[in-house]
Amino acid sequence: MPVDPIIIATEASTIPARLEAVNQRIAAACLEVGRRPESVLLLAVSKTFPVTSIRDAVAAGQRSFGENYVQEGVEKVTALSSLELDWHFIGPLQSNKTRAVAEHFSWVHAVDRLKIAQRLSAARPPSLPALNVCLQVNVSGELSKSGVAPEEVMELARATMVLPGLRLRGLMAIPEPTDDVALLGSRFAGLKALLQQLNTEGLGLDTLSMGMSQDLETAIREGATIVRVGTAIFGTRPRKPSLPHDSAEEDKA
Ligand SMILES: *Cc1c(COP(=O)(O)O)cnc(C)c1O
Repeated sequence: MPVDPIIIATEASTIPARLEAVNQRIAAACLEVGRRPESVLLLAVSKTFPVTSIRDAVAAGQRSFGENYVQEGVEKVTALSSLELDWHFIGPLQSNKTRAVAEHFSWVHAVDRLKIAQRLSAARPPSLPALNVCLQVNVSGELSKSGVAPEEVMELARATMVLPGLRLRGLMAIPEPTDDVALLGSRFAGLKALLQQLNTEGLGLDTLSMGMSQDLETAIREGATIVRVGTAIFGTRPRKPSLPHDSAEEDKA
């Protein structure tokens, strides 16, 4: 019977060993489709894990981290500020929390409304470089509630591009959960096609944020430039975020 390699790696080893295993998966997936491994950024998703776990990953060479919850993320960014890490906010974002994110992170992956983009731009401190932004696209239709509809991406992209505090980099998606690799591949391919469409119109975007612990190979095959990997590096997360005052439900409101 086949045994899930992710489960084994997750339960049996240390953060540096799991990180190494993930980097090898990325390299192998790139090799398969003739891409350079450096063309894919590994974003280590550290949500719900303590600062000590992040330090373990940093000691093993990891520099880019993703957080989902505003208060938890800001606390970690602040605690580790002397390390000069690269912090990405990847969770859903409420408009009353845009300031904290604009002040502490260098990327935001899940912008799906102009109002959020405008507030992030206005709150970005002028002393910092423009905030890198991806637009989250709903590539799963009725099966998903988050993300802008594909037919509305162009309009949102054009409106976001001109905001002075932001640098629009590309698109992000979280397809519906499925074991169907062909279906998943078609979702990722759909996101890539959208990016190419935007670039045909001259938007000059370079980022496809897609793929997680379970499906990073499929995402890389379809052109991912950032994979967001949590479980395969840090282990299984508690089901609920560790900070009840900043829950996913609240952020979705
Ligand atoms: C939690 C999360 C991830 C990481 O998922 P894993 O399956 O643990 O790798 C990636 N992207 C987003 C947006 C997430 O919320």
